[in-house]
Amino acid sequence: MPRRKDIIRVIQILKKKSEVSMLGSFSEHKPFYILISTVLSARNKDDMTIRATKKLFAKYKTPGQIAKAPLTKLEPLIKESGFYKTKAKRIKEISRIILEEYNGRVPPNFDKLLSLPGVGRKTAGCVMVYAFNKPALPVDTHVHRVSNRLGWVKTKTPERTEQALAKIIPTKYWADVNEVLVVHGQTICTPISPFCSKCGVRKYCARRGVKTHR
Ligand code: SF4
Repeated sequence: MPRRKDIIRVIQILKKKSEVSMLGSFSEHKPFYILISTVLSARNKDDMTIRATKKLFAKYKTPGQIAKAPLTKLEPLIKESGFYKTKAKRIKEISRIILEEYNGRVPPNFDKLLSLPGVGRKTAGCVMVYAFNKPALPVDTHVHRVSNRLGWVKTKTPERTEQALAKIIPTKYWADVNEVLVVHGQTICTPISPFCSKCGVRKYCARRGVKTHR
């Protein structure tokens, strides 16, 4: 079991890095933009998601506009997000619900977000953190992999990772966890052959020195 003090130290060290995640770069945008971009990011690369989000919001900016837009207009705008037909239906339905049930405002509530179509725990958590700066632990593939490599958790699924992290990380650090581990996972602790020799938190890592690592 890692020491809480070491976990906090790792978060603090990684926070000092200059890179920001895709969602971190969207922090000036409204909650609706962050929600829709997170839905579009499912099973997609960040650069494609960014392009699709920008194209969509250049034309349609509000829940009312997206809810009213025909699918045939939405689909080409978000084509680069992958699975664009399904995602177009989802963002249209999400927009309708936000308009009709929440007066056009994204609810700052995890369970209400989770009830939206196509919104799972990761997406709801990302909106809580990046749109509302509220504590949540969204776990994507990077957070899951890196927190296992660091030895913070021993889990097989992102859901289990979220539960395990919630037990060992103080709430005041939750909002930082996704940002620092996503960036670290994209740049240094990559899925195949991580760059351990360049890793700033190597001395705290359970997997440092594994032969397949660079
Ligand atoms: S030492 Fe290697 S495995 Fe551990 S966090 Fe750093 S890059 Fe990842």
